[in-house]
Amino acid sequence: MIDKNVIIIGGGLAGLTTAAYLAKAGIPVQVFEQHVVPGGYVSSFKRKGYTFPAGPTCFGSNGVIFPILDELGLYNKESYIRAGHQISWENHDIPLETPRQSYQDIANCFPNENRSLKRYFNWVGVGGSAFNDLLKSGMMFGHNVFRAILRVVYHHPLFPWASWKANKNTNRSLHAQYFKNPYLKQLLNQLGYPVMAGKNTLGMWASYYYDSWVPIGGMQSISDELVRYINEKGGQVHFGNRIKKIKVDHGQVTGVEVQDAEFIAANWVVSASDLNQTCFELIERKHIPSSTIRKLNKTRPSESIFSVFLGLKDSPELTVALKRFQGSHVVFTCADEKYIQLVLLSKDDKTAAPDGKHALFIGLLSPYEDWETTKGMPQAYAIQKAAYIEDLIKRGEEFIPGLRVHIEVQEAASPLTYERYTSNWRGSTAGWNWDPNYAPHFDFAKDIPIKNFYSVGHYVHNPGGVPTAMITAWYISKEIIKLKK
Ligand SMILES: Cc1cc2nc3c(=O)[nH]c(=O)nc-3n(C[C@H](O)[C@H](O)[C@H](O)COP(=O)(O)OP(=O)(O)OC[C@H]3O[C@@H](n4cnc5c(N)ncnc54)[C@H](O)[C@@H]3O)c2cc1C
Repeated sequence: MIDKNVIIIGGGLAGLTTAAYLAKAGIPVQVFEQHVVPGGYVSSFKRKGYTFPAGPTCFGSNGVIFPILDELGLYNKESYIRAGHQISWENHDIPLETPRQSYQDIANCFPNENRSLKRYFNWVGVGGSAFNDLLKSGMMFGHNVFRAILRVVYHHPLFPWASWKANKNTNRSLHAQYFKNPYLKQLLNQLGYPVMAGKNTLGMWASYYYDSWVPIGGMQSISDELVRYINEKGGQVHFGNRIKKIKVDHGQVTGVEVQDAEFIAANWVVSASDLNQTCFELIERKHIPSSTIRKLNKTRPSESIFSVFLGLKDSPELTVALKRFQGSHVVFTCADEKYIQLVLLSKDDKTAAPDGKHALFIGLLSPYEDWETTKGMPQAYAIQKAAYIEDLIKRGEEFIPGLRVHIEVQEAASPLTYERYTSNWRGSTAGWNWDPNYAPHFDFAKDIPIKNFYSVGHYVHNPGGVPTAMITAWYISKEIIKLKK
């Protein structure tokens, strides 16, 4: 066995970040990724000159992503563009630029709710800006947390009130308290995930106004850079290698079994893959306490999505229609009050489409249950997928008239696609459900009491997302580096 080696299961951002820190510290590390490209959800695919994101179309750094990339020497400010956000319905388009402006624009459309909107966006303004300052203080890394909170309260004296309100509510209960108009409540409920804790609602607004980013060259560029760094520091990333089992002996990990039953010994194993798969498939059941199984059985995954990726040739009519995008990211309420996300990828990142053309993403949350029945039935699946594509294009046309005649490239991903490529449980997009009632809290020492075994990634802390994937990796890599000394 090599001296003190680490095996990481999964080359998403959590696995790659862990490997980067370990390789930097000179620890022999190997990442096993089942897919042929790195990044998990943070990856891209190309079609005829267009580049589409496999998962997120943008992200909030949350005081985590940029500091980590910076610490690894991989952050270049010029490589990221601020993503603009907008909410739209009927013929209304409201760019989300500042809380005050959002209040004024929305109040113009709902004059009877003027006072409530003023109070709500006051909460968003106070809480969002303080939250953003707190995240930027280094708090996520445990740096001077008490001092950071004091400084934020000094600059934003109403922050304790805003966070108290956030802590005892969800997005829905907040909107129900503030507003009477059902359409307005629904409009705001549709932002983010269907049910999320009040503090995540605040985080969402903070991200819209201050901290939403798109990497030039696509999401894949972040993951590719991490792989380059890991290789440069002597680590290894193996592609097309699915881990089948985590081997445990006398309560301690001994290594992993790769798909062809080859055993690879390791001093530490880090699972950066779906935690459900880790506990129910990779580790033999006898090593997982029944209390952990019960906890996992009560959870729900975060919502899955059906996505359509379109490459569009230009025309004078389309150029005019696309002017509706004041921000690249739009949440649009269709005539039947269902909502879609529209992202004009080539608005922010010109490399997303060939010169003079446009790359567009359309997404609609789609329950996994609606797709489960088509598993193993290729014909039924193809028919359902075609119907969903047609539905999303039709909805897209409510926002961009004449959209379909410009389509020259078309791809789609269903919850089963997301599950197939990343093994995320039931096509979960960002770890456990963001409804606090269905997300478990782990005490890993008790819940998975296996020596020298760790988990990182978007299931390890709530809520999931890219910052969670990376901060969990930061903490666990530091822990292993400390133990190695
Ligand atoms: C459409 C969409 C939009 C999103 N939008 C946002 C957003 O705006 N902001 C945000 O912060 N987050 C967003 N997310 C969520 C975010 O992308 C994820 O939370 C984050 O990337 C998870 O990273 P991870 O490394 O923990 O997991 P993953 O990216 O799922 O990586 C896990 C990796 O493990 C590999 N793997 C699994 N099992 C095995 C095995 N047995 N052997 C080998 N390899 C294995 C998988 O192939 C995968 O590469 C979005 C996700 C989607 C799908």
